[in-house]
Amino acid sequence: MTNRRDFIRTLSLLPLTGVAMKLNTLTKMTEHFADTPPMPVLFLGHGNPMNAIEDNEFSQGWAAMGKTITKPKAILCISAHWETSGTFITAMDKPQTIHDFGGFPQALFDVQYPAKGNVELAKETQSGIKKAAVGLNYDWGLDHGCWSVLNRMYPNADVPVLQLSLDYNQTAQWHYELAKELAFLRKKGVLIIGSGNIVHNLGLVNWKDDQTFDWAVEANATVKKLITANDFKSLIEYSKLGKSLQLAVPTPEHYLPLLYSLALKTDSETLSYFNDKLVMGSISMTSVKIG
Ligand code: ZN
Repeated sequence: MTNRRDFIRTLSLLPLTGVAMKLNTLTKMTEHFADTPPMPVLFLGHGNPMNAIEDNEFSQGWAAMGKTITKPKAILCISAHWETSGTFITAMDKPQTIHDFGGFPQALFDVQYPAKGNVELAKETQSGIKKAAVGLNYDWGLDHGCWSVLNRMYPNADVPVLQLSLDYNQTAQWHYELAKELAFLRKKGVLIIGSGNIVHNLGLVNWKDDQTFDWAVEANATVKKLITANDFKSLIEYSKLGKSLQLAVPTPEHYLPLLYSLALKTDSETLSYFNDKLVMGSISMTSVKIG
């Protein structure tokens, strides 16, 4: 009997504690992330990690974008390079810079991107997503899909950055639906960036020159045509788009960040392309600005 009463008392206390915690979090959020006009959403083709330190047309494109749009209060990045079983969000105060590649010059390994995290925003994003039970992550950080572009967009690393992982167990449709639940962040001054590549076939990369393959040109054009037509359903079902798309997307991780960005576009918003070029035969740097 005593056990049963204790159990009932525990049950009655739990929701109250939850509400109190939630209110506390919201108060902090209100202080730091008051409502703003909707931030744009970006999809960035990141390509070669060397773009992080090379002054070239792509890194210049990222830098220009950083100057063009309103400076965000925080950035949420969905990078091709963080795949997990389940969905996680980084929740540490000081995310480490992860050099998740090999065979590059020491200068690239020496890069540190010391942007802070934001625990309150991580928790608010966690509770805003209903599609998945999002876990708070304390041991990832910022991988090169994220910091290589931000190193050029915001070189002072003075905007807090969070990453949301890609659950490798889920379908493209599932990712698209989860991404829609991130929309509220745009009105909190958060810049959402999908970072991958529309065409990304490392097995067929042409290291000698930028002679592009016909199928890569065709795949990039097909995807752009569907983006412009707002035909996101066909883009979600990309495996049905023929041989060129099958070669362009041999594995989904570099393509899925595009779907995250597109899912956040409202019907009335405009969309534009930049860094719209193919390199190394089978990599597309094509990037998209929404809003
Ligand atoms: Zn990559």
